[in-house]
Amino acid sequence: MAVIGFIGLGHMGGPMARNLVEAGHEVRGFDLAPGALEAAAAAGVRTVPSVAEAVGGAEAVLTMLPSGEHVLDCYPDVFAAAAPGTLLVDSSTVDVAHARKAHELAGDAGFGMLDAPVSGGTAGAEAGTLTFMVGGAEQDYLRATGLLEPMARKTIHCGGPGNGQVTKMCNNLVLGASMIAVSEAFVLGERLGLSHEALYDVASVSTGQCWALTTNCPVPGLVETSRAEHDYEPGFAAALMLKDLKLAASAAEHSGTDTAVGHLATELYQRFNDEGGGHLDFGAIIESVRGRSGQ
Ligand code: NAD
Repeated sequence: MAVIGFIGLGHMGGPMARNLVEAGHEVRGFDLAPGALEAAAAAGVRTVPSVAEAVGGAEAVLTMLPSGEHVLDCYPDVFAAAAPGTLLVDSSTVDVAHARKAHELAGDAGFGMLDAPVSGGTAGAEAGTLTFMVGGAEQDYLRATGLLEPMARKTIHCGGPGNGQVTKMCNNLVLGASMIAVSEAFVLGERLGLSHEALYDVASVSTGQCWALTTNCPVPGLVETSRAEHDYEPGFAAALMLKDLKLAASAAEHSGTDTAVGHLATELYQRFNDEGGGHLDFGAIIESVRGRSGQ
């Protein structure tokens, strides 16, 4: 069993660290927020008062932080205290440029690093059923698979440095756009006298089938697993969807890619966030579509 340093014990990092503890690892956790430290300690994490104490003597260091800036800010302390050979795994969702910079700095400091963002949300973090999309060198990926296993349903090596983040961003571009399309279809159907059930029964077995329809349907009463059944309590919050769409929009701009639908999805999620929906599940955007449709 390994000693693992864990930095960032929030909504995702807290339960991920707990799953590592339950798998028998010694997890040394650090977070700036006293509440996050208390919850982690109650779950069996050995909480410590500094990055240095979390990473000193660890075989691997996981970070689960809000943004790329947070990761690059804490990495110098990690490099200073980590033993040579420590594997660094950043599971935060960050922009590709920051992820590649983190790889470069880690490599210069002599550490193997992986960007390994996740999908599956807080429910997946709690249940240990996250999907890890991993970017970095093959030998580092192979070292990490056993470590990620207690937190993961699936772990996929997506290529070199930053490619985990590229994968996550592209996946969430599809997800954000498809949730808006599904919501618009239900609202259009409503206005033309079509029942939710009829549209669902046909689209769910036809070419309109997608995760946004059949797993997280934005209309309540049709799909048991949907957050619409729980007053749109996330799940995956609309604010985080907006964050991911903005990362995709920025990467599209830098790479000269025409992602017109992605830009529109960003604009619509921005609007929904401005309307106060950021804390709700991203499927609640159907309310924003209804609002603009005069319902
Ligand atoms: P969160 O805000 O709940 O947790 C982040 C934690 O990092 C906080 O507890 C904060 O105190 C801590 N932190 C910030 N700066 C720090 C520092 N310098 N040192 C130590 N701790 C520090 O966020 P979250 O929901 O756990 O998300 C974490 C990451 O996972 C984000 O990048 C997010 O985009 C991504 N993500 C979230 C979800 C989700 O459903 N919540 C799903 C997939 C990916």
